[in-house]
Amino acid sequence: MKSIYEGKAKILYKTGDSRFLIMHFKDDATAFNGKKFAIVKGKGRLNKEATTIAFDWLKKAGIDTHFVREISQDEILVRKVEIIPVEVVVRNVIAGSLSKRMGLKKGGKLKFPIVEFYYKSDELGDPMLNEYHIRVFDIADEETIEEMKRIAFCVNDLLRKKFEQADILLVDFKIEFGRDEEGKLILADEITPDGARLWDIKTGEVLDKDRFRFDLGDLIEGYEKVLERIRCVS
Ligand code: ADP
Ligand code: UDP
Repeated sequence: MKSIYEGKAKILYKTGDSRFLIMHFKDDATAFNGKKFAIVKGKGRLNKEATTIAFDWLKKAGIDTHFVREISQDEILVRKVEIIPVEVVVRNVIAGSLSKRMGLKKGGKLKFPIVEFYYKSDELGDPMLNEYHIRVFDIADEETIEEMKRIAFCVNDLLRKKFEQADILLVDFKIEFGRDEEGKLILADEITPDGARLWDIKTGEVLDKDRFRFDLGDLIEGYEKVLERIRCVS
């Protein structure tokens, strides 16, 4: 199979049909823009399962995504899109770069969910963008920004409730959007514990990639706990 792109966590392969790609989830774990790296056996399989469950929830709620179907234990079939090079981050609770930037304690509740944008550029270290930057540099127009925000909050409402049913607090997460062949804006990439902060509601135990970033415990054990619980949420 011909790979068209290999990133830090996934490989995209062409299929016989130019409208679709195979997305392979690697066992590689990276953090701090690739500065920390490890191969974590089984991570790809768990991320593939997490993303499948999350995209299934979204599909049932009528949110359009690139997800088509599972292919193997670490691969899914997706609709090929042209990615908008913006990482859309939604936050419910203070953590990560927000806690750092504002000097606020991790775990503080936000009065209401917020959205942030980052430019997808490893060379530049994914700098934060505001809506003016996105428009003035022709990354996306105003209508697209509004649509991305609307969908992002909608995804947050849904995911928050689903994770809550699994006794998991959805602290924050990152999503990406792209345009399909007809130019329609759809949700792409992944929804996994690699790109979301997930804490045990009762104990506060960190179950996501922060385990790897900050040596908080075995990564697979955290991801397995997430999967065990969300598998039961329909
Ligand atoms: P990175 O590029 O940050 O290292 P990954 O290893 O996750 O990230 O690589 C996956 C790449 O595939 C990302 O750049 C993402 O924007 C892109 N992508 C995700 N979904 C699609 C899709 N449906 N069509 C085309 N590209 C996609
Ligand atoms: N995130 C991501 N990819 C990135 C940057 C962030 O998936 O390149 C996710 C991250 O896992 C977290 C959320 O987006 O769930 C917010 O990340 P933050 O801005 O706090 O940055 P971090 O401190 O994680 O680098």
